[in-house]
Amino acid sequence: MNLTIHGYSTALFSTWYAIEELGVLFDAGDGLTANLLGKSGKIKHVFISHADRDHLTGLLQYNQLFGYLKPTIYFPKDAGSFKFLQSFFEDFDPHQKGTKWVALKNETEIKTKRNIIVKAIENKHIDVKGAIKSLSYKVYEEKNKLKAEFLRLSPNELIHLKKNKGDSFIREIKRNNILTYSGDTPIYDISVYDNCEVLVHEATFLRKDEVNLKANKNKHSSLEEVMEMVSQIHVQKLILGHFSSRYDQTEIDSEIKRLIKLYNIKIPVYRIPVGACVKDILNTNTVN
Ligand SMILES: [Zn+2]
Repeated sequence: MNLTIHGYSTALFSTWYAIEELGVLFDAGDGLTANLLGKSGKIKHVFISHADRDHLTGLLQYNQLFGYLKPTIYFPKDAGSFKFLQSFFEDFDPHQKGTKWVALKNETEIKTKRNIIVKAIENKHIDVKGAIKSLSYKVYEEKNKLKAEFLRLSPNELIHLKKNKGDSFIREIKRNNILTYSGDTPIYDISVYDNCEVLVHEATFLRKDEVNLKANKNKHSSLEEVMEMVSQIHVQKLILGHFSSRYDQTEIDSEIKRLIKLYNIKIPVYRIPVGACVKDILNTNTVN
């Protein structure tokens, strides 16, 4: 599936990714509506990864402008800030009553279109035992396909079989993981990201030894770890974002290039420059 992805993602300041064809937004940091303008109105489903302010402060203006289109805002079920946001929004913009707020558990699946499913996956950014406070999201496209055992049959044989046994006898629904959004998280289980077409992953730090895994701190990934993981799984396209503004862009790019070589990565690799919004990311130049 062709995806038109727009986004901004710089650690501490703002993160959001909008996917036009899906009408879906992942996170809603500052600058969302200012950059997307009228296109923000195409967003019908807003999936927030966690309650850090840089991932949700764009919601106020989005809701003010487009709440009348009755969007749904999804959030991790134990992230306590959202009930305050909801009641504030309802008081502040009382003319916008259409917005729905939905708390997600681990592995909750939301059907956003007839053939599109977004699945919430608990991650380890805010690692509190027994509480869901931060989520990654996986997007699946469902296709109704002919079962493998019937592929050799002629059109006439298929029509006959369908008449006698019904459509569900010869066809089955297959799921393709067309996009995975990591949100903010350290890498803890690479199988979560395996076999997806487009992986959007955070890379707050460049090097492994810069990642701070102290118990009381929210946890992130390094570029080094992301590239190592990508070399071990099947991903068709990689979008890197959430770089810390402590790095110079030329330093980030040369580190991406070094790691592409080191891990012999053959897929296209895109990156969101620090402090920049990128429109239609998959149609911009790759780093490699
Ligand atoms: Zn963040």
